[in-house]
Amino acid sequence: RSLPVDASEESGPRAVPGACFARVRPSPLQNPRLVAMSLPALALLGLEAPAADPEEAEAEAALFFSGNRVPAGAEPAAHCYCGHQFGSFAGQLGDGAAMYLGEVLGPRGERWEIQLKGAGITPFSRQADGRKVLRSSIREFLCSEAMFHLGIPTTRAGACVTSDSRVLRDIFYDGNPKHERCTVVLRIASTFIRFGSFEIFKPPDEYTGRKGPSVNRNDIRIQMLDYVISTFYPEIQEAHSDNTVQRNAAFFKEVTRRTARLVAEWQCVGFCHGVLNTDNMSIVGLTIDYGPFGFMDRYDPEHVCNGSDNTGRYAYNKQPEICKWNLGKLAEALVPELPLEISQLILEEEYDAEFEKHYLQKMRKKLGLIQLELEEDSKLVSELLETMHLTAGDFTNIFYLLSSFSVDIDPSKLEDFLEELTSQCASVEELKVVFKPRMDPRQLSMMLMLAQSNPQLLALIGTKANINKELERIEQFSKLQQLTADDLLSRNKRHWKEWLEKYRVRLQKEIESVGNADAWNTEHVKVMNSNNPKYILRNYIAQNAIEAAENGDFSEVRKVLKLLEHPFQEAEGFQEVKEDAEEEGAAAAAAC
Ligand code: AMP
Ligand code: MG
Ligand code: MG
Repeated sequence: RSLPVDASEESGPRAVPGACFARVRPSPLQNPRLVAMSLPALALLGLEAPAADPEEAEAEAALFFSGNRVPAGAEPAAHCYCGHQFGSFAGQLGDGAAMYLGEVLGPRGERWEIQLKGAGITPFSRQADGRKVLRSSIREFLCSEAMFHLGIPTTRAGACVTSDSRVLRDIFYDGNPKHERCTVVLRIASTFIRFGSFEIFKPPDEYTGRKGPSVNRNDIRIQMLDYVISTFYPEIQEAHSDNTVQRNAAFFKEVTRRTARLVAEWQCVGFCHGVLNTDNMSIVGLTIDYGPFGFMDRYDPEHVCNGSDNTGRYAYNKQPEICKWNLGKLAEALVPELPLEISQLILEEEYDAEFEKHYLQKMRKKLGLIQLELEEDSKLVSELLETMHLTAGDFTNIFYLLSSFSVDIDPSKLEDFLEELTSQCASVEELKVVFKPRMDPRQLSMMLMLAQSNPQLLALIGTKANINKELERIEQFSKLQQLTADDLLSRNKRHWKEWLEKYRVRLQKEIESVGNADAWNTEHVKVMNSNNPKYILRNYIAQNAIEAAENGDFSEVRKVLKLLEHPFQEAEGFQEVKEDAEEEGAAAAAAC
C-alpha cells in the first residue's frame, strides 16, 4: 500500500527513521510441525481442507505458516507502533513479534491482512527475541476462534505451528529454567492497525520511551488516517469526502461506538482481556492480542486475570471505563486532524450510552426477555449479578441454566432447580477466597480516620468506594467464618429464590403482553440458548490442551477447537473432553 516502508532486506534491529512499517524476513524454525489449523478461518483466504494426503498437507501448512517458506507475492513487514501501557505512555513497543505477510483477497472479494506472530526479530523487537512459545500461542489460537464462534468481533487464527527451536522464558520447574518450543500463530484480520498505530506519531518531546518515526511524522499520520478511513470505513469517506474534520469526527464516533459494543460483548460472556493497553485496541473494534486473558468461572466483578496487574487496572468491572480512557488517548493522537473539543464531546455523548444500550440488549437476550424493554430490566440484571457474586456462582453455567426456568414451575420442580443453581455456586472455602479482605487492617483504619476528617478528599481520590467495598467484604467474610456447608446451601437457596421470584414476575409480564404464550416460550428458550454459551475456553481446558501439546499430543488442541466452534449447543464428544479436563482440572487450574 502507500504507507512508507523501510525497504532494507535486513530483519533485525536497525534504525528505520520515517517508517512505520519495515521489511523483514521470518527467521526459520527447526522442524516446524502443525499443532492445529482452523478451517473456517483459512476458508476466509480461499484455502480448503486437503482432499487427499492430509499428512503432506499438514507438512506444507507447517512450512508456510511457520514462516520457513514465504508464499510467492508476500512482502513480509513489521509495523512500528506504541501505546499507553498500564496508564503511562511507553514509547515504541510494538511490533517486535508479529510480521505481516501481506494482504489476501478472499473468495468473496473481502480483503484480509495476514500475519505470523512469533516468526523472529524485527527492527522493533528491542531487547526481545520476536518469538512466542507453545502455551501462549495455543491460548491465542484457541481463544481467537472461540471468540469468533461466540459472535464477538475478533482477529482470527488460521494455524498454530510449533517447532524444535527453543527459547528461554520465565517459567521454572524444579528450580530449573525451561527452554520452551518456539511457536507461530497465523493471524487474520481486516486490519491489525491499533490505537497505538496513531500514537507513534507523537511529537518527540512527549516521548519517554523509544521514539517513533523521526521524519515526516505529520505527513505519515495523515496518510495513515486517510488510509484507515478510506479502506475500513469507506461509507464515512464517501459521505464526508468534502469535509475532512467532519469525516474524522464521523470516524472517531464509529470507533467509539464499536469499542463500546465490543466491551459490552466481553462483559456479557465474562471475558477479561487482561492487557487493555492502547496498543491492544483495534482501530476497527476487534478483540486483539490474546495474552493473559480469562473467562471468569465464579462471578467476581473485581476479577483480575493478569498476574502482573497488581492494582487491578484491567479488572473485569473496569474494562468499560478503561476502553473509554483508551479512546481518549486515541483522540489525543488524532489532534490536529480532529480537534480535541470535538472528539471529547463525541466520547462523552456516545460511549456510555452505546455501551449501556448494547449491554442491556444483550443481557435481555440472555434472560430471554424478547418482548418488552422495561426500565426495570437493568435492575434485574444487576441483582442477578449481585446474587451470583454473593454465592460465587459460575457465570457461564448459571446463565445457561436459566433457560430451563419456567414461570409456572411447581414447588417441587423449583426445589430441583434451586439445587441445580446452587450446585454451580462456591463452597464455603472458595467463598472465603472471594471475600477475603484485601487491605491491610492498619491501612484500612488509617483510611477510616481520614474518611472522618476529610471525606471530600477521599471521594476525590476515589478511595471512598474502595473503603466501602472493603467493609462489605469484611462483613461477608466474618459471616462466612461460622458457616457450615448446610448453612451455605440454605443461604444460597434463599438468595436465588429471591432473585428468581423477581425474574418470574418479569417473565410473566412478557407472557401477558403476547397473544400466543407457547410460541413466545419456544422463541424465548431459543434466544436464550443462542446467547448463553455452554462452552467457553476456561483456563483449565486450555491448560489441559497445552500440557498434552507440550508432550507432543496435539489431539486435545484440535478437539477443544472443534468444541469451541459450537459454543451454543451440546457438541458430540464434549462430555469426554470435559471429563478428561475435569479430572486433571484441579492441578491444571493450580498451574495456571
Ligand atoms: P503485549 O503486552 O502483548 O501487547 O506486547 C506489547 C509489545 O511487546 C508487542 O506489540 C510486541 O511488539 C512486543 N513483544 C512482545 N513479545 C515480544 C517478543 N517475544 N519479542 C519481541 N517483542 C515482543
Ligand atoms: Mg499487544
Ligand atoms: Mg501480547
